Amino acid sequence: MDGVLPKITDKPASYWQGARVFVRLDLNVPLENGVVTDSTRIDRSLSTIKWLHNAGAKLALASHFGRPKAKPDPEFSLRPLVPILFEALGGEDIGFVDDCLADRQGIFAKHSIVLLENLRYHAGEEANDEAFAQGLASGFTAYVNDAFSCAHRAHASVHALTKLLPSFAGLNLTAEVEALQAALDKPQRPVMAIVGGAKISTKLSILEHLVRKLDYLVIGGGMANTFLAARGFKIGKSLCEVELLDQANAIMQKAVSQGCEIILPHDVAVAKELSHGTNRQEIPLKSMGEDDRIFDVGAVSIAEVIEKLSQSKTLLWNGPMGVFEIEPYDKATNQIALAAAKLTQAGKLTSVAGGGDTVAALNHAMSAQGGVEANFSYVSTAGGAFLEWLEGRQLPGIAALMR
Ligand code: AMP
Repeated sequence: MDGVLPKITDKPASYWQGARVFVRLDLNVPLENGVVTDSTRIDRSLSTIKWLHNAGAKLALASHFGRPKAKPDPEFSLRPLVPILFEALGGEDIGFVDDCLADRQGIFAKHSIVLLENLRYHAGEEANDEAFAQGLASGFTAYVNDAFSCAHRAHASVHALTKLLPSFAGLNLTAEVEALQAALDKPQRPVMAIVGGAKISTKLSILEHLVRKLDYLVIGGGMANTFLAARGFKIGKSLCEVELLDQANAIMQKAVSQGCEIILPHDVAVAKELSHGTNRQEIPLKSMGEDDRIFDVGAVSIAEVIEKLSQSKTLLWNGPMGVFEIEPYDKATNQIALAAAKLTQAGKLTSVAGGGDTVAALNHAMSAQGGVEANFSYVSTAGGAFLEWLEGRQLPGIAALMR
């Protein structure tokens, strides 16, 4: 992510006073019978909406919602979000515009904030169609993108639209990009990544990219098994992707040539079967029996990771170190997460986490401390966009904004 991100805070208050702003948000929240079951995305959108509103701008909020087939479909209407936004904004009256291309005349006649209907009712959105983007842009004086989670898709409302209006990053998108740049593009060194989770197959490109950027790469979770097998260790009946042994070896060789130290477990927590409430049995790797299955990293290896972490200035975390959902195999994830939280709180570490089960695993580890958001420097909830960034891919929505 090279370049400078134009931010809404770059402009003087006079710029926003009376401006008509198209605001791209991610309001694609889970909705069951009209009830939002997780409001994180709405909550994260509020700061930018409030900031622009307080600055005197008129706002048209726009988002996709679900996957309608490029035509109006009540199942995918954003209308149920109007009362939710009304409450979240402290009783601010919100208008609803039932077509995102509706005539702009009088759009703000009754309300200074309106919610536009689902962008994906039109095929032009996903096709990044210029004529559609022109329709969206018409009647507005500025464009603000605050939807990092949509930045990996070159859709009209995040890409083509930036060519047509003066464009800015909202407060969250700015915070997310700055946190990610601080973690990987311009990190304070030494920089460590912890990559765990079930399988390598879903994270090959991430590992290949990271070994070029890091000082330490800790590999945990089920994916560590494939690396251990590639190094010639017996891993019993543990989860392993035998077809990827060559690729695991290639990654380890690349790490050596790039000066990145790969840290794999020396000891592990094993069982014959996965079950709750069993006693934790830890053994050195060399003692693995034929029927043993690895479900977590052992105490010696946990201590090694924590020691290396205390020498690091930056941490990037994706994926749990073990089967964290089942006690006692949450130990490595918990202990390393708590150590990272402590270093972060002491101002010694910049810690960024995100992707897949990571937020759930780290929240589990820090439930007594108020969760991961209260303890890490930055937590990304962006899913696909976060993972594509970890792979080193250019995100079209960010590249389009950068100057
Ligand atoms: P991911 O979505 O790739 O980050 O994978 C997360 C999943 O990996 C979690 O559900 C964990 O239970 C699982 N996992 C972590 N360690 C292991 C392991 N040693 N064996 C099998 N699954 C694991």
